[in-house]
Amino acid sequence: MARGVERVAIIGLGLIGSSIARAITERMPQVAVTGHDASEEVRGVAHRLGLCDRIADDPAAAVADADLVILAVPVGGMADAAAAIAPGLAAHAIISDVGSSKAGVAAALAKALPDHVIIPAHPVAGTENSGPAAGFATLFDGRWCILTPGADAPADAIAAVAKFWEALGAKVDVMDAAHHDMVLAVTSHLPHLIAYTIVGTASELEEVTESEVIKYSAGGFRDFTRIAASDPVMWRDVFLANKDAVLATLQRFNEDLTVLQQAIRRGDADKLEDWFTRTRAIRRSIIAEGQDDPAPDFGRKH
Ligand code: NAP
Repeated sequence: MARGVERVAIIGLGLIGSSIARAITERMPQVAVTGHDASEEVRGVAHRLGLCDRIADDPAAAVADADLVILAVPVGGMADAAAAIAPGLAAHAIISDVGSSKAGVAAALAKALPDHVIIPAHPVAGTENSGPAAGFATLFDGRWCILTPGADAPADAIAAVAKFWEALGAKVDVMDAAHHDMVLAVTSHLPHLIAYTIVGTASELEEVTESEVIKYSAGGFRDFTRIAASDPVMWRDVFLANKDAVLATLQRFNEDLTVLQQAIRRGDADKLEDWFTRTRAIRRSIIAEGQDDPAPDFGRKH
């Protein structure tokens, strides 16, 4: 029988934590939500926005009667957040998180909370904005949430967390944490690294002025700047935590970049056209899967 989730505690009320709180209020009004954030300022904003039924100043008090506790803090802060809630946890509470990398976080949570059931999760949904005001209830609609339970995780706890995310609007997949980290290194972490690199490089090119970079940004640069505006602390932690998978993916990327560099230098038109035809097909399959807007220019309103 599936476990019931009637009381949820959210630790960290930024973009993801506040979006979960909003979605619970909207989609599961019967579920009581308590929130906590380490920042007094964030707690104040969360209170003013009416994000939770209760905002607790103390992390252990926040989780006191919770059936499900969700840690929504940067990956590098998960161990501290888990240690801070430990004294207040009910024995039956399921602990979950929303970290963008999973193997390291799962190990940190298991170490901090050895007697609790831990079902790590990663909602593959987000924006370049952060903080409690940036969240919205529909963030998870139609997006994937990947659960990475350990081999000994109880089936009823996995089912309860899956049901919770489905109620928030997400589609749920379950996979091994190491596999998750490799997949996300390709689909999310490497693209962010490339965007951070391109935007940094373009802004330092001496032949081109900064005003020209901004003025003519619609030529492609602008789309990278959205990703490169993502939260610096969150992404610092993701690259440090998912180091091995990111470095392996980066190695492949560097090899492919050299192939394209060579094709340009040698005037290999067929190579370039074949490559770009293949990548255009990938874009079309993402749209067909409902994972992006088919309107030109990423659906921007002009
Ligand atoms: P965010 O908007 O920066 O919010 C994180 C909040 O957690 C901040 O208010 C932060 O306060 C607070 N915090 C930090 N350490 C804490 C602690 N020990 N106890 C309580 N609160 C603490 O970040 P986010 O975008 O919501 O990301 C949260 C998590 O979701 C990260 O693990 C990230 O990898 C994951 N995630 C993010 C996205 C995305 O697109 N943004 C998507 C999927 C998953 P301070 O600001 O004062 O430090």
